[in-house]
Amino acid sequence: MSGVPYAEVIGDPIAHSKSPLIHGFWLEALGLAGDYRRAHVKPEELASYIAERRDDPDWRGCNVTIPHKVAVMDLVSDPGDIRGTIGAMNTIVRQPDGGLIGTNTDAAGFYAPLAELDLQGAAVAVVGAGGAARAVLFALARAGVGHVTILNRSPLKAMGLLATFGLKGEVVGLDAALPPAALLVNSSSLGMTGQPPLDLDLSPLPADAIVYDLVYAPLQTGLLKSAEARGLDTVDGLDMLIGQAALAFELFFGQSPPEGRDEELRALLTA
Ligand code: NAP
Repeated sequence: MSGVPYAEVIGDPIAHSKSPLIHGFWLEALGLAGDYRRAHVKPEELASYIAERRDDPDWRGCNVTIPHKVAVMDLVSDPGDIRGTIGAMNTIVRQPDGGLIGTNTDAAGFYAPLAELDLQGAAVAVVGAGGAARAVLFALARAGVGHVTILNRSPLKAMGLLATFGLKGEVVGLDAALPPAALLVNSSSLGMTGQPPLDLDLSPLPADAIVYDLVYAPLQTGLLKSAEARGLDTVDGLDMLIGQAALAFELFFGQSPPEGRDEELRALLTA
C-alpha cells in the first residue's frame, strides 16, 4: 500500500539546506499531498541509504549535496552521461519499477535566468573551477559562448575544465584584469559569508555586461554591489537555487512549481 509521496535532500552536514523550504513552499502552494525532508547521511551510510529508499514506493528521490555528489554516481544509472560531463549529480529520481536515475539540475538552473539572451560567440569570464564551475561551463558550452576567461587560484584545474567542455579561452589568476566580457560569473566560494571577499575591478566590462554571482549567503554580495554601483545588470544566487530546485520538483512530484510566486519564495528564503 502506498502512502504520501516524499522526497529528501541528503548531505553531511544538512541542517543549512534551503531545499526543504523551497519544495515545502511549492507543495503547499499547489495543495499537493507530498513531503520534502532533510536526511543527514554520512559518507559511510550512503550506499545503505540508497538501498533502503529504493524499496520504498513513496520515496520519489532525493537531492544530493556535499559531500555525496560524486560518490552517488556509482550507485545509480546515468542515462545523460553526467559522469562524463558535469561529473557530479545533485538529483536522484526513483522510477516506478525501483530503478534509480541520477541527473544534475544545476546547469539548467544556472542557465534559466540567461535563457532569453543570445550568448552565441559571446566573451565570458568565470571565477572558480570547482563543482559549481563545472555546471556553469557545461551550460555555457551548450549556449555556444566564444572566448572564455577562467580566473582561479589553481590554474591547472581550470585548464582541465576548458578542455573537458571543449571551450576556447585562457586561464588567469584572481588578480588579473578582467576581459571586456558580456557576462561575468562568480562560481567560486569567494564573497560567501566566512570566506575572503572577491575583489575585482569591473571597469573593463562593457556597460551592457551582466554580472551573475552564484553565492547566495549573503545574497547581496560585494561583487553584486560593485556591479550595481556601475549600473550593470545582475543575477543573484537565489535564481539558480530556485531554478535547479524547480527542475527537481517536476521530476519528484510530476508538476511544475506554481507560476508567479517567486517573489514570495525569495522573501521566505531571505527572511
Ligand atoms: P568547490 O567545489 O569547493 O569550489 C570552490 C571554488 O572556489 C574553487 O574554484 C576554489 O579555488 C575557490 N576558492 C575557495 N576558497 C578560495 C580562496 N580562499 N581563495 C581563492 N579561491 C578560493 O565549491 P562549489 O560547490 O563549486 O561552490 C562554490 C560556490 O558556489 C559556493 O559559494 C556555493 O554556495 C555556490 N553555489 C551556489 C549554487 C546556487 O544554486 N546558487 C549552486 C552551487 C554552488 P581552487 O580551485 O583553487 O581550490
